Amino acid sequence: MDYIFSPWRYQYIATANREKGCIFCKVVADNTNEQDYIVFRASLNFIILNLFPYSSGHLMIVPYKHERSLALLDQPTTTEMIELSKKAQTALESEYHPDGFNIGINLGHAAGAGVAEHVHMHVVPRWTGDANFMSVIGETRVLPEELKTTYRRLSVYF
Ligand SMILES: [Zn+2]
Repeated sequence: MDYIFSPWRYQYIATANREKGCIFCKVVADNTNEQDYIVFRASLNFIILNLFPYSSGHLMIVPYKHERSLALLDQPTTTEMIELSKKAQTALESEYHPDGFNIGINLGHAAGAGVAEHVHMHVVPRWTGDANFMSVIGETRVLPEELKTTYRRLSVYF
């Protein structure tokens, strides 16, 4: 799939390939929220923008604990994960007014997980018609907003 407007994607891939290891664990350790697009750090999870967003405002809730499976996370962590997903939904509703959401977890590469070794919850705002002809026919995704802008718009809600 080609991206028309995502210069950061290539930079990210180059960085990810160069630095082996878990990208989520790395960004948490960095302690540079804005640069890494971490919009909020809670006690057991953090919220970060997806660097390859399906749509503008695509957020991820990520536990600090590095586990590949949802079943391996303890109850306080999963409870907070759901509560943060609710906060993310509310923030996106207020700021982006989407028509719907996909909220969920892909476990394993076979299920579409991009970072399979560290479980994370996606919160994806959706608009009627956003799976447009360019995405379906042209194998091309158009991103209407830069990540810096998304970060600025959403970080004020947390
Ligand atoms: Zn990790």
